[in-house]
Amino acid sequence: MTAQFSDFSLPDTLMRGLTSEGYELPSPVQTQVIPLALAGHDLLVSAATGSGKTAAFLLPMLQRFLVKPAHAGGTRALILLPTRELARQIYIHFMRLASFTRLTAGVITGGDAKAHQIATLRKNPEILIATPGRLLELLQGGLVDLRDLEVLVLDEADRMLDMGFADDVLAIIECCRPQRQSLLFSATLQQRGLRDLTDRLLRNPQTVIVNAVREQHPDITHQLLLSDDFAHKRQQVLWLLQNETFAKALVFTNTREGAVELGNFLMGAQQRVAVLHGELDQRERNRVMGLLHSGRVNILIATDLAARGLDVPKIERVINFDLPRSGDDYLHRTGRTGRAGELGVALSLVNKSEWNRMESIVRYLNLSIETRTIEGLKAQFNGIIKAKGKPSLAVRKARAAANKPEPPKVKERLRDRKNIGKRRQPSSAAGTAAGHTPLNKRKPTPH
Ligand code: AMP
Repeated sequence: MTAQFSDFSLPDTLMRGLTSEGYELPSPVQTQVIPLALAGHDLLVSAATGSGKTAAFLLPMLQRFLVKPAHAGGTRALILLPTRELARQIYIHFMRLASFTRLTAGVITGGDAKAHQIATLRKNPEILIATPGRLLELLQGGLVDLRDLEVLVLDEADRMLDMGFADDVLAIIECCRPQRQSLLFSATLQQRGLRDLTDRLLRNPQTVIVNAVREQHPDITHQLLLSDDFAHKRQQVLWLLQNETFAKALVFTNTREGAVELGNFLMGAQQRVAVLHGELDQRERNRVMGLLHSGRVNILIATDLAARGLDVPKIERVINFDLPRSGDDYLHRTGRTGRAGELGVALSLVNKSEWNRMESIVRYLNLSIETRTIEGLKAQFNGIIKAKGKPSLAVRKARAAANKPEPPKVKERLRDRKNIGKRRQPSSAAGTAAGHTPLNKRKPTPH
């Protein structure tokens, strides 16, 4: 039977918050996490962005605080996360869900004025939403007190580890009240260093895995486009942006320079583009996000770090101009589309040097991916990889699914005529459903 929010016996004020947010039914991660968190368990949750994980930890936390008012005035919950952008989004989420309550939250992130944050702390919000570096600084300065903490949430923990926050996070955990509930959310549970963190953070945790990409995002179509080089990719991206219909698109590059260069090129081609990268200061970031939200631009070019946690409605295209460095980055990038039931397309431009990585990402995430081509902008690279120029099985399948089998060349036809009985087999490898091409699929590994 489908779960309902009313199954969780949430206070009326929260139910009203849910209604005003327009949430009708709990998402799969909410269905699993909310009852366990309400029962007081520590949790280890593997859920990607876009799954509804924020409400999955906010709702039980808010319920607890509403049902059991605090004795002391200290911080009751701490949500640690990797970026300012994500912090702001969670704060907005909180403001909406808790709009019919008196609960308060404060945001403590690097890059924003410290004085303002100190003023926030003086107001004793129940909930702190923080990035590790700045919080630790304030903790060490005696400006934050976590000795009354009841709930500690680590959100996008894999990302925090990636960004080198492990030591800061461990130091913060040491300052938290030991008798607390701890919840850890991560897109993957395979991350190096995660084990160390969970050992220090969680007590007898329950594990929840809601992570299979296709289960999670039935609304995202994954596509692959073979490319040759930077100039060729630029033409392909321009074609896609000019010829396809979408409300908003997010184009990822692996470097800041690449983002700026592509941005200039697309602006020169009269596209409504803005660029978001890690070296913009907060004011600039806010300006860029404002342009995107208001629709003044409909294309955002971003690097991974800059786009972490972005939650912009109507992103219908995610284009990997450069292939992400890992499966987890792929997951994070593509999770910007297909949000809250919207349809999305994630398209990766893949050149020869990126091909092997694409194959491992496909295997790691157990992705179904369609290969497509653009007439007139076909790549010379045709997926031939590794030694001896022989295409891998994956490539052969991909090609077979994307194209009709090529007619045999003249020489082959002559040879075939001589060799009747040893005729070429038709490419029956093409027989996968609807052009979907499973490349070297592997069973998803349990964590
Ligand atoms: P998150 O994974 O928490 O970043 O959430 C992704 C998006 O889904 C956000 O825009 C949320 O507002 C939205 N969302 C979360 N839970 C629900 C729900 N139960 N019903 C509809 N939308 C939701």
